[in-house]
Amino acid sequence: MPVNLRDLDLAAMGAALGGYGVDSAKAARVFAAVQRDGVASFDGLDWLSATTRRALAADAIFPELEIVERRRAADGFVKYLFRLPEGGLIEAVRIPLPDPGDARALKQRRRRGEAAGLVALPTAKYTLCVSSQLGCALACDFCATGRLRPAGGVRNLAVWEMLAQVRAMRAEADHPVAGVLFLGMGEPLLNYDNVIRTAQILSHPAGPAIAGESISISTVGVAPAIRRFAAEGHRFRLIISLAAASSEARLPLMPAEKRWPLAEVMTAAREYAASCGGRVTFAYVGISGVNMGREDACRLAELLAGLRAKVTLIDVNDDSGRYQPPKDEEVKDFRDELLARQIPVSRRYAGGREIGAACGTLAATRAGGEAF
Ligand code: SF4
Repeated sequence: MPVNLRDLDLAAMGAALGGYGVDSAKAARVFAAVQRDGVASFDGLDWLSATTRRALAADAIFPELEIVERRRAADGFVKYLFRLPEGGLIEAVRIPLPDPGDARALKQRRRRGEAAGLVALPTAKYTLCVSSQLGCALACDFCATGRLRPAGGVRNLAVWEMLAQVRAMRAEADHPVAGVLFLGMGEPLLNYDNVIRTAQILSHPAGPAIAGESISISTVGVAPAIRRFAAEGHRFRLIISLAAASSEARLPLMPAEKRWPLAEVMTAAREYAASCGGRVTFAYVGISGVNMGREDACRLAELLAGLRAKVTLIDVNDDSGRYQPPKDEEVKDFRDELLARQIPVSRRYAGGREIGAACGTLAATRAGGEAF
């Protein structure tokens, strides 16, 4: 039975290698070599005896995902298309980020009216948006991933398949990778165990050592899993994605409302807020003429009342053309209503549009930008 070393956290590595007579200290070194350094063989690990290396080499496997294509958008976003072992295609996105000091200075200049619009700042680091499932069964009405019908059906990605996305993008990054976002294809909390284990490996000091606080998991509201996440007390950040502030308005946009009604999601969100100790981020998918009225903002403010919350507005990206992103006036009114109620709100930059790399558009498309 082959042993997939790329699927193992430190404890599982210790257990697997223990059977080959490798002690826990050496198992930790193998973990670092595999999960941090990306080794694909035992060559060079000469602190293991030749006999052990021979025995391990006979059983161990180091699978990779094939990179089918990379596409670069004019704004520096890069979308990766990966092939899974059975042939299914998934996508991940490398998102360029400026130095936080530069971004703050730009914001202040814009407030003073000294910078008109978004000025492209030099890239200082990257965050990586990865997929957690092949396809997605939740079928949000505005999302291209939800419309995909993978040949073998929707399936959860294994730990190694999520780590492989990060490793491949990291290997080609010309700046440090400072964060990971489980916001690609799929609903991460429906693949709970694997996503949490992947995040634990990514944040392990002997692994890639990405700060736990810089790993975000985005959910459309799998209430039981939010409660579990809260009870387990992880350092990773949860982002709860809403597209409406009432059940009636949410149902046609997010059929998940039938399984986990908004009231239940908010009860779970309050448990998470109590456990995380900081502000809870609610992503709000803005759709022109649908959910961006002042009354929608008031309903959202009422929904979040008593919670330490912040709202991130995300323009809808619907490749079917049915839903349109909000107009600037709608965003301004919506934002003003929330700010008047002391709810911090920001608008997320929707990058990589022309390569289908923005939120809601990951559908294994191969168009736009520059392929390389
Ligand atoms: S928005 Fe997220 S949960 Fe909804 S269909 Fe798309 S991938 Fe699935």
